Amino acid sequence: MSRAVVALGANLGDRGSTLRAAAEAIAALPGVRPVASSREVESVAVTLDGPDTSKPRYRNAVVVVDTELEPQELLDALHGIEDDHGRTREVRWGDRTLDLDLVAYDDRSIDTATLTVPHPRAGERAFVLAPWLDADPDAELPGAGPVADLLAAVGDDTERVDEPRLFDEPARASRPATAPEGRLGAAS
Ligand code: AMP
Repeated sequence: MSRAVVALGANLGDRGSTLRAAAEAIAALPGVRPVASSREVESVAVTLDGPDTSKPRYRNAVVVVDTELEPQELLDALHGIEDDHGRTREVRWGDRTLDLDLVAYDDRSIDTATLTVPHPRAGERAFVLAPWLDADPDAELPGAGPVADLLAAVGDDTERVDEPRLFDEPARASRPATAPEGRLGAAS
């Protein structure tokens, strides 16, 4: 069993409903068990040319799961969920109803034609780091350090959305008593 971190983003349509439906779909994937989720944050759209205030704002969130799927299998499943939400990929960094990124998979380093893990831009994106920290206060980005430190370094320009977490956190309640306080613990 491995632990994976998935970042969710949407800037078109009913963004909150899309993120919630996507989180449910991720949690319901065969071979996937939900561990923790964040609340939503909102931030300005970032395009290839930088921040663009004329574009619809983004809603972002993070979910943490345990999974038996290999990283590429998980990414393929995430793309299936994107497709179910009408995602089209004509414009890189363009507006999208749903974007799902595999941020981290255990502490593995992967670099193939279709998958780079940890996600190469995760450590510089407050809209990934802030919800990840919300889901897991002790999160670490493999190779880069504690998410709290990375977020402090980039500056948190996101706004917290006043809504519940994307899903309840069954694993927090059933975490082994031996796990250090506040930690989600490593996958076993
Ligand atoms: P985008 O349209 O910006 O979401 O980019 C999607 C493309 O990035 C897909 O073709 C993926 O194969 C590739 N990709 C590489 N690494 C990752 C990752 N860690 N998470 C999600 N997509 C990835």
